[in-house]
Amino acid sequence: MKKGLDTIVIALGGNAFQTKGDRGVAEDYWRNAYTAAELIARLIEENYGVVVTHGNGPQVGIIAEWMSLGLKEKNIPPMPLDVAGAMSQGWLGYMLQQALYNKLAEKKLLGSKVRGVLTIITQTLVNRNDPAFNDPTKYIGPWYSKEEAEKLSRELGWVFKPDPRGGYRRVVPSPDPIGQIEIDAIKMLVEQGFIVIADGGGGIPVYRDENGLLHGLEGVIDKDLGAERMASALKADVLLILTDIEKAFLNYGTPNAKPLDVVKVSEALKYYREGHFKPGSMGPKILAGIRFVQNGGKMAVIAHLKQAYEALKGNAGTRIIPD
Ligand code: ADP
Ligand code: MG
Repeated sequence: MKKGLDTIVIALGGNAFQTKGDRGVAEDYWRNAYTAAELIARLIEENYGVVVTHGNGPQVGIIAEWMSLGLKEKNIPPMPLDVAGAMSQGWLGYMLQQALYNKLAEKKLLGSKVRGVLTIITQTLVNRNDPAFNDPTKYIGPWYSKEEAEKLSRELGWVFKPDPRGGYRRVVPSPDPIGQIEIDAIKMLVEQGFIVIADGGGGIPVYRDENGLLHGLEGVIDKDLGAERMASALKADVLLILTDIEKAFLNYGTPNAKPLDVVKVSEALKYYREGHFKPGSMGPKILAGIRFVQNGGKMAVIAHLKQAYEALKGNAGTRIIPD
């Protein structure tokens, strides 16, 4: 990584693009992209090296819904989930890339502090035999009636599960990421002074066949776990996970809820095993933080997007540090 500078991998939550109360129109996405860009520009001003990644759960679901509408009304065939994942990387990557470019240009940082901003379509290696493929858990896309779900399941082979909030939703496997295929390019670009947006949505899940060739898989990787793989491979100093809650809590949602400020990695692991962090939300963030520090990272921070800067300086959020 760039000498003398701290490198930060920033993982933006789904809420970084579509926040509560937003209709999800393009203007909402742009406004939220500029909020994230403002923060990132501030870090660039302070000479940090930055790699940005983002979630795509809502957007992959939206893409699947657009496809299912086309399927019903216009007989346009849907694309498989790996392609939908690539579309979401292009969509969100583009918006962040332009917002960041404009913020940096405005602050006269382009050309001086950074050479440019670019998005990498990122493929993330997973194990083809990951047990997650036999147990799809991640909800994506719209809600269907039981009859519609059964019909789509017959026609397309999609798996549906009842959603706790009612109705049926498509569920897809969420395999554990091994590493990013494009990691060397990402590393080189960061070293050369570019801001890289990569591994969107945790990366497009791919496996390598007997001949060394890559193939996409039907799944959606957790973006926090993908971010850890990238941060560890880049030997980044900090993994900064930004979400919509100020801190991770013990006994979350109970009267005994207790916010965590600084936790040593062994403590974090103990709490994780005790089940304090919900799977699919805070669970993977804590796990990503634990793995990052175990792999040599200095600090993993989980914080609210609006408190990102304070959290990085140690004045907000939950920090996981080495023992
Ligand atoms: P993101 O889009 O940023 O990945 P998630 O919804 O996946 O956001 O995760 C953040 C959410 O995790 C919080 O809004 C909170 O409701 C939930 N959560 C679950 N367990 C905890 C916990 N122990 N402490 C804090 N938040 C928790
Ligand atoms: Mg999440």
